[in-house]
Amino acid sequence: MDAKSVLESWWSPLAAAGWGAWTLDLSVQSRGLTFVEIRSIMVATALARAVEPARAAPAEPACHLYAGLFAAAASFLGRAERHAVEVQCAAQGHATCRFVIGPGRQIDEAEGWRKQGVSADDIRTRLSAAPVAAPAAKVTAANLFKKTPAKK
Ligand SMILES: [Zn+2]
Repeated sequence: MDAKSVLESWWSPLAAAGWGAWTLDLSVQSRGLTFVEIRSIMVATALARAVEPARAAPAEPACHLYAGLFAAAASFLGRAERHAVEVQCAAQGHATCRFVIGPGRQIDEAEGWRKQGVSADDIRTRLSAAPVAAPAAKVTAANLFKKTPAKK
């Protein structure tokens, strides 16, 4: 079973239960990265409704529960530690929530860039252009979230 099928079959019941419809981007799997975009996340929708017009939107993304869920699922499925971070949140007025899943070093970089105001698209571009530490691997369920060696 290919990586996309594994992930789709994992998320499908959650989407049906109202956790949001996702778009999965596995095009940078050779770098150990997965990008997820979700419309209508429960957390973000509830927060956006709770924020009164006079108040500013939350300064930080709000869907930590999802980021944790993705990191746990990716780590389990890939048998290697994976981290995840939300780089764009609907609770802040964006159309969708967007996440990056991958090795800790790249996720820390993504979080740092987000805090500097770098857009989700630019974060994706920067991560995709970063030097590859290991040769590209075929995308299979077995190496879906294959750990890349840490830089020294
Ligand atoms: Zn969000």
